[in-house]
Amino acid sequence: MPAPDNPSENAGSSARIPFSFELFPPRTPAAAQSLWGTIQQLAAPGPEFMSVTYGANGSSRESSLEVLRYILSETSVLPLAHLTCVGSSHFEANRLVREFLDAGITSFLALRGDPPRGAVEGDHFLGDLGSASELVQLIHRVQTERAQYATLPSRSASGGGAIPSSRQKVRVAVAAFPNGHPRSKGSNQDVDTLLAKQVSGATIAITQLFFHAEDYLAFVDQAHVAGVTIPILPGLMPATTATRLERILELTGERRPEELSRRLHASESTDEQSDIGVEHAVSLSLEILAGGAPGLHLYTFNQHRAVLSVLDGVGLIARPTSPESPNLKESA
Ligand code: FAD
Repeated sequence: MPAPDNPSENAGSSARIPFSFELFPPRTPAAAQSLWGTIQQLAAPGPEFMSVTYGANGSSRESSLEVLRYILSETSVLPLAHLTCVGSSHFEANRLVREFLDAGITSFLALRGDPPRGAVEGDHFLGDLGSASELVQLIHRVQTERAQYATLPSRSASGGGAIPSSRQKVRVAVAAFPNGHPRSKGSNQDVDTLLAKQVSGATIAITQLFFHAEDYLAFVDQAHVAGVTIPILPGLMPATTATRLERILELTGERRPEELSRRLHASESTDEQSDIGVEHAVSLSLEILAGGAPGLHLYTFNQHRAVLSVLDGVGLIARPTSPESPNLKESA
């Protein structure tokens, strides 16, 4: 199922609103077993794509690829690979992109990545590629080179002809930060960075999670004024426990959703907290869709129930029935 370059093309009155999911590679064999079941649950309602994160410094290369291969071979959903360029030389980055393309992965989320833990301030940790824009260009270049090799005359004994090639187009997504990248000097820099990524060949942007509709809608407006034309897909995460909300706020530096935070902290029931988180994500989704969002990208934490409940609440799918795999429950 190819992802549209512009999901909003699907969002007309008769077409359904597209949705997609983010997964992370499992850290243990038991978690991997559970993940295959989760992927099947998430694949059932027909997402546009499922993306798989990439560990800092390439730490999850093998396990990310394993999940992407599973999505490719065991579902009809398009797999989208996160890739980062931190610490890579040009040669290593080329080889990495080739490896993913060879595995049949043709959709990417090109990221700069974060400094390794303990790295000193400044950009010395980066390697040869300084920004996500450069990785976007590299992915397109590697794909073009591969396509050229595929159409070179073969050296068969009979002197055979050209090998046919469909020149399959790669799709490259990039990150966007409605509330600013933690190291950004202001919203103009965030918009300029997104514009630079579009110029480099990005076909869609996926946002950092956020908890206030106006933050996303204002950023999209500002980006449009600046000349960004690629769809900006909102990334959302139902905060289903108070602990998870705190952890996310700490990691992202996002503005605290006061009402959600108060309700989560006031509740002692995990079921009730989950309902509160889903309810908040549903109303946020409805608000941004009404404001023109081209679809919904849901951070799953490798669990299907909460995100499917959000989609159900928004009216995009029928209510999920099966319980969460018990060994996927997280403490956060
Ligand atoms: P960039 O777009 O390169 O921006 C980083 C900085 O460089 C910014 O300050 C920007 O202003 C500056 N900059 C960018 N382009 C230029 C330019 N052309 N000229 C001058 N300056 C420029 N991290 C992971 O390690 N693995 C993941 O799987 C992962 N998935 C993510 C998914 C999403 C949806 C999001 C939003 C983030 C994800 N991250 C992931 C985190 C991401 O790697 C970090 O936020 C990182 O610090 C920035 O990545 P970027 O791609 O936005 O960087």
